[in-house]
Amino acid sequence: MTVRVRFAPSPTGMFHVGGARSALQNWIYAKQQGGVFVLRIEDTDAARNKPEWTEGILSALDWIGISRGSYEGPYFQSENAGEHRAAAARLYESGRAYYCDCTREDVQARTGSQYQGYDGYHRDRGLGPGPGHALRFRTPDEGTTVVVDLIRGEPTFENKLIEDFVIARGDGSPVFLLANVVDDMTMGITHVIRAEEHLPNTPKQQLLWEALGVKPPVWAHVPVVVNEKRQKLSKRRDKVALEAYRDEGYLAGAMRNYLMLLGWAPSGDREIVPWSVIEDEFRLDEVNLSSAFFDEKKLRAFNGEYIRALPVAEFVDACQPWLTGTGTIAPPPWQPEEFDADAFAAVAPLAQTRIAVLSEIVPNVDFLFLASPLIDEAAWTKTMKDGSGELLDDAVAAFEALESWDAESLKSTLEAVGAERGLKLGKTQAPVRVAVTGRTVGLPLFESLEVLGRERTLARMRAARLRLV
Ligand code: GLU
Repeated sequence: MTVRVRFAPSPTGMFHVGGARSALQNWIYAKQQGGVFVLRIEDTDAARNKPEWTEGILSALDWIGISRGSYEGPYFQSENAGEHRAAAARLYESGRAYYCDCTREDVQARTGSQYQGYDGYHRDRGLGPGPGHALRFRTPDEGTTVVVDLIRGEPTFENKLIEDFVIARGDGSPVFLLANVVDDMTMGITHVIRAEEHLPNTPKQQLLWEALGVKPPVWAHVPVVVNEKRQKLSKRRDKVALEAYRDEGYLAGAMRNYLMLLGWAPSGDREIVPWSVIEDEFRLDEVNLSSAFFDEKKLRAFNGEYIRALPVAEFVDACQPWLTGTGTIAPPPWQPEEFDADAFAAVAPLAQTRIAVLSEIVPNVDFLFLASPLIDEAAWTKTMKDGSGELLDDAVAAFEALESWDAESLKSTLEAVGAERGLKLGKTQAPVRVAVTGRTVGLPLFESLEVLGRERTLARMRAARLRLV
């Protein structure tokens, strides 16, 4: 039997990191089993779906390594609507489902309590189809439904506690529970790996499989991803969109490595490992039962390590979207014609060891491309103390006299200027850095000055000096 798994997102918003993790888990499982990964877009909630969300899912999956053309699909749930209705009709004809026109208030009036579920009023009343008549599944009165779950063992549900649930609405449209099962059935899905939040649906869905005469799949319900307060990651409160991380400059390799560590770890106390190790070692049945903390700080640290591990040329390429502004990435503060690829290449290795996400490249190198630096006023005030003007005068004079404009000569020259005033290099550097780059932190100063060149460096130092008068 060929293993067939599916990832079945609903295109109702940005692509959630938790979804990306389930997709990767399905992907790896299929690969390990020599199986097939199917992508199905569950687009039946017409009011909440938008085509751009579907496109977002496809491109985010592509980015994370589940590339278009390497899986089966995408299928669209809406295209299978005929099958969903046919299954509902079969369940009605075989007596496994019945029509009901009760409202919630009707049930409440009968049971005289808070609505606790449907009371089975129409089970044997023979109501036929008609406008406003919902179709309910007749759940067994006795016995248990045992779900085989690769992560949780065999969660067991008492059938008598499962209400006769709706499978098609009063307008005849099948609900998610049924559509999802029918799609899995028609697509020959053997393993359903999905988020834990669906576990309450699973006994109902398994009953539907059985009633439709098909052997149910094996399930795996993966624990949810939570924030630092252990709340389920929510798109209103937390940064959850995979696209947002991508646009900030997380590397796909770091992201997918990190996502796979949510609730699982490779052997030997390692965290940062090649993808091939994860593909070999990952075991669904080793996934933790407790919810997994999505730690953005840790992800950042991971990303920094991935950035540092890149060959410089790849790092230079990886920075391009932030240097030019493409797609959903905002353009940098300089004009395209101001950008100088050689100057960038010269400082790239210095930046590579200092940034954790690629978008941070921009404030680190903007001084090289802008006609005048963007001055951080708070940094200016903090740094330009009494004596800074005179210090800049001396530094300008000493730099003007330099024969060779290289980092080493610049450093020893400024060191000497500082020493005359009894200042350490750090203190001497600060006003020069602010004058030239506009900031107090950044790339190593003397290498930066070397790349910026004599004319521009001196012009900026003189301009800062004038500002101080
Ligand atoms: N469309 C459902 C969701 O996004 C899929 C549920 C499932 O994987 O069965 O939650």
